[in-house]
Order: sequence, then C-alpha cells, then structure tokens
Amino acid sequence: MTSVGKHSSYRVPTGWPFLMREMHNKLPGIDDRIAVLPDPADPTEYEDIADALWDLFLVVKNLAPSPNATGCQRHPGGPVDTEAPAGWGRCLLCNHNRRISHPEAKKAMESATSH
Ligand SMILES: [Zn+2]
Repeated sequence: MTSVGKHSSYRVPTGWPFLMREMHNKLPGIDDRIAVLPDPADPTEYEDIADALWDLFLVVKNLAPSPNATGCQRHPGGPVDTEAPAGWGRCLLCNHNRRISHPEAKKAMESATSH
C-alpha cells in the first residue's frame, strides 16, 4: 500500500522537489508583505521581510550549485584576491605564492603597501 499524505508517518522530504515547492510557496507571501508596506514604512517593518527573504535565500541557495568564488581547483573555499593583477586568477592563496616567486609582482606589492 502506498499512501502519500499528511498522516502521522509523513516525513518532510528533503531535496530538490521539496526545495522547489518551498521557493514557490514562500515568494508570493513575501511579495504580498512588501506590497502592503506603507510609504514610508516604520524601519522595524522591514525586519520581518528581511527574515522572510533570508529564509527564502537559504532555500534557493540550497538549489544552487555550491559556488567556487576563487575559481581555483586547489582552494575552492579559500579567500578571494580582490586586487589580482590582470590575467591572474582570483585565488588569494595561489596569487600569494605567485607574488612571492614573481619579483616584479612582489616589488609592486611592496611599493603599494609602503604608501
Ligand atoms: Zn588556489
């Protein structure tokens, strides 16, 4: 016997279909709350919306592939180099090693930090 429903043995499913439903269920509610906000609204009224958006964000984030901000195979979760020279990757760890072994880059970095 197969029965799917909200009986006592019903378990909350995890995974793709559940997250998709969550996303579609949550978004209209948030949209409605934003629509009824007075203009200007009391700053505290945004708190509930921010919480709801954060909740939605976490659901959608679980649907998205985990990001590789550094673009680095060796350090996918490492720090990002925001001042990477043109043509270099965004991995701070790799770029640090590169700067150490790259005299011109090292000199440029030293003169940049001595200002
Ligand atoms: Zn790296």
